[in-house]
Amino acid sequence: MSETNFRTETDADGIVLVTWDMPSRSMNVLTAEAITELGEILDRTTADEAVKGVVVTSGKNAFSGGADLTMLEGIGKLARQEAVKSGAEAAAKLVFDESRKLSQLYRRIETCGKPWAVAVNGVCLGGAFELALACHYRVASDDPKTRLGLPEVKVGLFPGAGGTQRIARMMPASDALQMLLKGDQLRTDRAKAMRLIDEVVPRDQMVEAAKTWIRNGGSAVKPWDQDGFKLPGGPVWSKGGFMTWPAANAIYRRETFGNYPGARAILKVVFEGLQLPMDRALTVESRYFAHILQSKEAAAMIRSLFVSMQELGKGARRPKDVPPSSIKKVGVVGAGFMGAGIAYVSALAGLEVVLVDRDQAAADKGKEHSHKLMTGQIMKGRAKTADRDALLARIEATPDYQKLGDCDLVIEAVFEDPKVKAEVIGKVEAVIDKDVIFGSNTSTLPISGLAASSERADQFIGIHFFSPVEKMLLVEIILGKETGDKALAVAMDYVRAIKKTPIVVNDTRGFYANRCVGAYLLEGHLMLDEGVPPAMIENTAKMAGMPVGPLSLTDEVAVDLALKILKAAEAQAGPDAINERQKELLVTLVEKEGRLGRKNGKGFYDYPEGGKKKLWPGLKDLQPVSRDADSIDVAELKHRFLATQALEAVRTVAEGVVTDVREADVGAIIGFGFAPFTGGPLSWIDGMGTKAFLALVKELEAKHGPRFAAPKLLEEMAAKDETFYGRFPPEAREKEAA
Ligand code: NAD
Repeated sequence: MSETNFRTETDADGIVLVTWDMPSRSMNVLTAEAITELGEILDRTTADEAVKGVVVTSGKNAFSGGADLTMLEGIGKLARQEAVKSGAEAAAKLVFDESRKLSQLYRRIETCGKPWAVAVNGVCLGGAFELALACHYRVASDDPKTRLGLPEVKVGLFPGAGGTQRIARMMPASDALQMLLKGDQLRTDRAKAMRLIDEVVPRDQMVEAAKTWIRNGGSAVKPWDQDGFKLPGGPVWSKGGFMTWPAANAIYRRETFGNYPGARAILKVVFEGLQLPMDRALTVESRYFAHILQSKEAAAMIRSLFVSMQELGKGARRPKDVPPSSIKKVGVVGAGFMGAGIAYVSALAGLEVVLVDRDQAAADKGKEHSHKLMTGQIMKGRAKTADRDALLARIEATPDYQKLGDCDLVIEAVFEDPKVKAEVIGKVEAVIDKDVIFGSNTSTLPISGLAASSERADQFIGIHFFSPVEKMLLVEIILGKETGDKALAVAMDYVRAIKKTPIVVNDTRGFYANRCVGAYLLEGHLMLDEGVPPAMIENTAKMAGMPVGPLSLTDEVAVDLALKILKAAEAQAGPDAINERQKELLVTLVEKEGRLGRKNGKGFYDYPEGGKKKLWPGLKDLQPVSRDADSIDVAELKHRFLATQALEAVRTVAEGVVTDVREADVGAIIGFGFAPFTGGPLSWIDGMGTKAFLALVKELEAKHGPRFAAPKLLEEMAAKDETFYGRFPPEAREKEAA
């Protein structure tokens, strides 16, 4: 008998090798069909007396990325239909029954009486790693790409197929909680040290190693199914438990501010589960899992951080009729802060790079950045000296524009000055081939304006990175008025090659991300002006779900740069385009106090050398009034932070700057950390309903002024009770591009 997704072969010793190899998929995933088939294999091998044991491995380069999250999304949809048909209780039962199938299958494997071993190569994550944990022996290949982990918490869930219970019985609860709450992917050396893996061997020996363990009489009974089993960290109600649980709760609150029900469920499931025998503990895990699966947060996070992110990463917005471009060599002009980073990420992706600056020393300095970053990787054991040498050999630092002659794409990151950019565009176009695409990394200058200096405006496009380039996943691709499809396709192919996520936006001041960030910073600055204690501003922003407070973020960006951008906006669009109170605050900080931000060690914060940063005590002297923290409505501050960004996102949709709701949401989370548990600003609005959001911003407008005025689009949608994902379904956008 053979299944569609698995091949089985039995050797002379009666050991069945199960090779997971799903047809027409590059990566194995746990689909409903795969789960059923694995169940059939389990029944067959258990019933067959000749079978001595089972080894599961993968026929692909990687083991598996885990459960098909769209299948989990599907359970949610089924439940909603069931709720309408038969009521909430029936719907809850359906989710519980459906979502625990994998958990039940794994428990059956664990208790089938025959030894199951797993041989893992490449990534083995989520539900796939839970399969490995359910097996009785785990062998991993020493391939550096091998990664094991339970990243479910990152999409608002937690491991629901026994992962929480097995992990918490294999290591002390405090370590298990860390692993589950962080969702990190472990390399084999760490996994082995944590005893999550029994053996690490070369790839071509892993199946044999697993079989040898079976042949040598490997036990098919897990420690927790044997009498006298003791939890590694001691029982919950013990001295060790008292050290663990109160602290765990506090750390959870500090890290999440209670915004992530999935993370909270991990604490509860482990706490309750460890007080029960395994089967009962798994039922507890399943109950919480069914509950979390139906949460607004999990639905929003799965959609934005998994489904949409994957679709955008695969080039959902790429013009389909342009053939794939083969980019081998990239030119980067301007080897400063950004150019050096762009050169690094390009070379890291295996591309050849020509890095040009005004003189050799400046170009070399840019290349030195790659040396520094790679050295950091070597120190952390993530790269070898040979990797650094190879990467540096791919970067040619030079002041000579002629060297750009054979580049497939050129990106400029020179000074933010239209005259300098125009000169550079001319010099580059004089040497590159006629059909080579030119990208600008400008953060504030309109692309159409810069394209006027180009002889080939249809080949001119914005490729806007965020700093630090090596860390930030988002790249905004900006279409000028005349930008053609080929430029868009090449820019997207390039962004994909360097493993970042592109969003495509139309040309406007601030494009997308910086408009929303600008609104966030403004809100923080105005709160300061209103007399809200600075620490309260920073903390409530984090409570709202933002990773960095607005004052701290201004320091990172640089206070003088924020002022420069404000002044430029005022000069171009008039006094109404800016907020006078904000300008006064920034002028005082920069021009009177010389506080430029982190870069000169003083901004909204003081940065003592070698010490921790602290809010500058002088801030209270800049506040015209000071208010008592207890008299301030924290919920309102939180709403202001999120609502001002979400409103700006709505405006960009209304103005046609952003044309795909997925891009607004994904771009906001990975570009500036918009509260990930919401799934992004538009998902946040959809989650509460456009009617409720309109009511919220109207209230804020009445209290805080016209910056909270709702765009017409929102009024219209609220009147019809429409959602953003309902009115602008992403599939429609894809059909349009096709
Ligand atoms: P930077 O001052 O650090 O670097 C600019 C580099 O360009 C310098 O090394 C300079 O020597 C070089 N340069 C100037 N004129 C040149 C010429 N004619 N030929 C070759 N090289 C020349 O500036 P940066 O922060 O890296 O910013 C560069 C661009 O990136 C700007 O357009 C900026 O708006 C944009 N940007 C910056 C950030 C940021 O966070 N700094 C973020 C996104 C985009």
